[in-house]
Amino acid sequence: MKRILIVEDEQAIADLISQALRRHGYETKIAEDGDEALSLIFDLKPDVVILDLMLPQMDGWEVCRRVKNDPETAHIPIMMLTARRSDKDAVEGLELGADDYMRKPFSCDELSARVRALLRRSVPLKEQQSVVQNGEAKLDLNDEQLLLYGEDIALSPTEFRLIEPLFRRFGKAVAREELLGKIWNANYGDTRTIDMHISRIRRKLAGCEDGVKPSLVIQSMRGKGYRLVWQEGKAIRNSEFGIRNSELKDKR
Ligand code: CA
Repeated sequence: MKRILIVEDEQAIADLISQALRRHGYETKIAEDGDEALSLIFDLKPDVVILDLMLPQMDGWEVCRRVKNDPETAHIPIMMLTARRSDKDAVEGLELGADDYMRKPFSCDELSARVRALLRRSVPLKEQQSVVQNGEAKLDLNDEQLLLYGEDIALSPTEFRLIEPLFRRFGKAVAREELLGKIWNANYGDTRTIDMHISRIRRKLAGCEDGVKPSLVIQSMRGKGYRLVWQEGKAIRNSEFGIRNSELKDKR
């Protein structure tokens, strides 16, 4: 599902745009100022940004300039929204690298149609590193797939967004709050959402276990979040335990 970030400080307008885009089958998220917009753009890499020019603190021009000047985000299409009547705004916006613009007031249907056109035109930059690998586990960032022993784990888009930071920092704890930031449309602060998604991923990973091969496991770290690790297969762990038990018996 394509993800659209709406940057607009007037909540009524932001909600209107968001509802219209959702009706057209997009995922949406709203940022209310330039700083929040930038961090979401770098964190979540939306497929399109709808950017109002008049924002508190950092304005839309500056957001556009920074997004288009960074190789990591330059490919993300920007649709500027301008309330002013002069063509100067639009021309300046396009010079800064904005991909399209609309003047307020606009029809939401037209906005959706233009967003669709932007998506068609935009050629996603091939990720510099399209596959991250750890042992027999591979994370394919282009296809959003997790392959374990060559088998596709069939993660949902949300599950993929959660496993990506865990995978990139393999063996290290990632805070639940940070994971929450990776989910579109999550209620901020509700980390139980994360626990729910994590247990679903765990079930999928467990479905791939044969008891012998090392299994990929998401561990809960009390107060620290979650981490991804390899664990010996169940059968092997149990047999070691068995040996230790029999050793103990012998010593008795
Ligand atoms: Ca505004």
